[in-house]
Amino acid sequence: HQRDQSTAAHRQQDLNALIHHGSRWTTEGSVVKDDPTPPSGGALSGKTIAIKDNITTRDLPTTAASKTLAGYTSPFDATVVKLLRHHGAIIAAKANLDAFGMGSHTQHSHSGAALSPYSRNGVPLSPGGSSGGSAVAVAMGQCWAALGTDTGGSVRLPAAYAGVVGFKPSYGVLSRWGVVQYANSLDTVGILGRSVEGVKQVFGCLDGHDGRDPSSLSRSVKERFGRPRRVLKELRIGVPVEYNIAELSPAVRSTYLRTLGLLQDHGHSLHAVSLPTTRQALSAYYVLAPAEASSNLAKYDGIRYGYRTDGPDASPKNSLPLYARTRGEGFGEEVKRRILLGAYTLSSEAIDNYFIQAQKVRRLVQRDFDGVFAQPNPLLESDDLGTGAGDKGREGVDVLLTPTAPTLPPTVEEVKRQSSVESYMNDVFTVPASLAGLPAISVPVGLSGRETEGMEETDVQSVGMQLVGQFGDDELVLQAAELLE
Ligand code: GLN
Repeated sequence: HQRDQSTAAHRQQDLNALIHHGSRWTTEGSVVKDDPTPPSGGALSGKTIAIKDNITTRDLPTTAASKTLAGYTSPFDATVVKLLRHHGAIIAAKANLDAFGMGSHTQHSHSGAALSPYSRNGVPLSPGGSSGGSAVAVAMGQCWAALGTDTGGSVRLPAAYAGVVGFKPSYGVLSRWGVVQYANSLDTVGILGRSVEGVKQVFGCLDGHDGRDPSSLSRSVKERFGRPRRVLKELRIGVPVEYNIAELSPAVRSTYLRTLGLLQDHGHSLHAVSLPTTRQALSAYYVLAPAEASSNLAKYDGIRYGYRTDGPDASPKNSLPLYARTRGEGFGEEVKRRILLGAYTLSSEAIDNYFIQAQKVRRLVQRDFDGVFAQPNPLLESDDLGTGAGDKGREGVDVLLTPTAPTLPPTVEEVKRQSSVESYMNDVFTVPASLAGLPAISVPVGLSGRETEGMEETDVQSVGMQLVGQFGDDELVLQAAELLE
């Protein structure tokens, strides 16, 4: 038994899911036990929760997995962390990520890459990213649940790859105060857990207006959210035709079809819908997110906080100014690529062809979604409410079901051989909901016997299925997700 535990400890350490541990990290064979003496009798009393390391905690460092913030500890807790503590949770540890949330495999981390517990031919699989550390920590039982951030899929993709549940609420529902910015107009705090029920419990504790976050939704907007009006026994489920791409791997396609069939057997109805702008969504995202990032990351100049290079400012010996050397040394390759890309697409010569076009695509993506959901978008003025499919006399759908990613996770060696653009491809199904700010969840659906034929026992045995709802339909998405478990 002891040997088992030390092997488990060894494995968890190797996976590098958690990068800073708290003093209340009570371990037994390195598996965190729920604290026997919870700080208060709240809804999350004694539950251990890992926090992605781009969310501030006053008692643990917050580095965003970048050398730029190495050794930094914030003087305050992010609002979401404060709320977790308030409800009795134990902030157990900080979870690994791609620096600043930029990546899909948690391989671009100053603290070293994170690995999935699954492997193929002896090579570990990608844990997904950028919240790969949060997903692996949940999968390995190192914490009860974890917070991540999702800008273009960073909670849903790792959840799918590690076989756990990952929920990205509607934009503005959870506070971003204390969350290290990547792309403000897309950044969302998300929740990872072993079950939808656990995720729901955490969500219930975090949902609320925060005056410190200007993008936090006010109560008056929330009052316009769809009332729980649908009969969960007869959901109208949209199947977007554009997601049936040739790149879908056989295991993903067959799990998707089987899941749709099961839902139909349970009395829900399936409806083919079209989201034509889906094809442009990924390109638009990889213009918009880096543009916002290049502007956000300008503040890491080595003067106010964080990493600063040695030596004096520009001098005959040091031809570059201090801030330029600091940034050159502090940021990793992927972050520099995004900053350069963003600076270019915002430049006067390129802005019309890139940034402005991408903004237009974003609008079209939002319009596509509004055109298929029965529920009108509560963010539109009441005059415009007619854009909901339901109001056009057609019956729209309640939720959309798609795979979370087109394939099973690649191995980390395959990831190393991928070009940046190939690795951006993993986000093709998650990015549209991010551009529109919609609630979306990835739920692991186990492979059937036939689907696992020829697969190794060490390989991942589930496929992430994604449900997307109209803006503000977070509760409905969570309820529908329970049907997939
Ligand atoms: N993989 C995407 C990116 O690198 C999404 C990241 C995220 O959601 N934080 O931008």
